[in-house]
Amino acid sequence: MKIFSLTIMLAVFGFFNAVAQEEMPKITIIHAGTLLAVAGENTLSEQSIIIEDGKVTDVVASYLDEMGDAEVTVIDLSDKFVMAGMMDMHVHLASSGGNAADHALAGVKNGYVTLMAGFTTVRDLGATDDTIFKLRKAINDGDVIGPRIYSAGTIIGVGSRGNGVDCNGVESCRRTTRDMIIGGADWIKIYSSCSGTQPCAHKDGSPMFFDDEMEAITQVAKKYNIPVAAHSHPTASGIQVLNYGVKSIEHGTHLNTASMERMKKDHVYYIPTFSVMDRLDRLVNDPATDPARAKRMQGTLDNNPRQIMKAYEMGVPIAVGTDAGVAPHGKNYREVEKYVEIGILNNDALKMATVNTADLLGKSDMLGSIEKGKYADIIAVTGNPLVEITDIENIVFVMKEGRVYKD
Ligand SMILES: [Zn+2]
Repeated sequence: MKIFSLTIMLAVFGFFNAVAQEEMPKITIIHAGTLLAVAGENTLSEQSIIIEDGKVTDVVASYLDEMGDAEVTVIDLSDKFVMAGMMDMHVHLASSGGNAADHALAGVKNGYVTLMAGFTTVRDLGATDDTIFKLRKAINDGDVIGPRIYSAGTIIGVGSRGNGVDCNGVESCRRTTRDMIIGGADWIKIYSSCSGTQPCAHKDGSPMFFDDEMEAITQVAKKYNIPVAAHSHPTASGIQVLNYGVKSIEHGTHLNTASMERMKKDHVYYIPTFSVMDRLDRLVNDPATDPARAKRMQGTLDNNPRQIMKAYEMGVPIAVGTDAGVAPHGKNYREVEKYVEIGILNNDALKMATVNTADLLGKSDMLGSIEKGKYADIIAVTGNPLVEITDIENIVFVMKEGRVYKD
């Protein structure tokens, strides 16, 4: 009898103890020496970022060490530069050549290095198969370490050129687009012109789609409330896709002034994928490169900085997108550095990696800055990238949704 009541007492005590533990909030407080809470605005010093359940619940001046009865973990970044996790709007995490197993291995590896480079969110604009949707789920479930993924599935193009799925005629385009969305795409990505390495990608090249095909794609996307991103090099394909309400233009090598004005007016984002120029630069200087191809690439190398600065000066919305997959994974910060190299202000370049990317995704309520109510996607570097942009490479701390991945 005695043993029985003791058992009950212990059980009851254990129950209340468990409840007490459960109810005691777990809070993380980051002491941020220099805080760029919202890129584009001024920094603050000696701030405490309060984090609970993966979200920022407050940002307060001075260093706090406790919060009422809560179980508090303090992370000391008092000698670091702290900012929101960066985001890359144009990556290819899970395209590797080979088969699905290769894509999966590549996706896991590329996702990991991307997150460690301080990029907590990406938009994947084209995988070889549905591996990317599985990778997205595995990361969301916490089974794989990587950035939050918004995925376009497989690229929709004409005549399934290798990595794309086919859109050829109205019915075909409608079916392909709908299948992609039902398969899990957060975005639709279209090849509205040739790829940059093909001769047909020049200034006067022809758009890939007929107007009725563009209409079919964008009508389906609109029906399901899915935004469209358009790969475009020639001037004419830029004009065409803007007529059909795309949300972003990728590469935009030969966008003309009228298209840029329209992008500004309609709030269409320009994704420069400037990082690819590092690769072109190497190829141009490689004696093994075919001279005609080298000449074409040199033209692109000369043209791109002018295009990007023109868009910047005109006030066209710009968001960071590297084309990692063509450019290296895990060095996504090169895009930000290259903007500054051509004259974009450091704080504007950081804004293009955070505030603007969140806006493009339509997720400004949850992403892009360190503010009350948003996901705790937070990174820290040594030095100060507002003074020396290459300090953005010195990532010493990465948190995604309140969980620390690098410290
Ligand atoms: Zn791409």
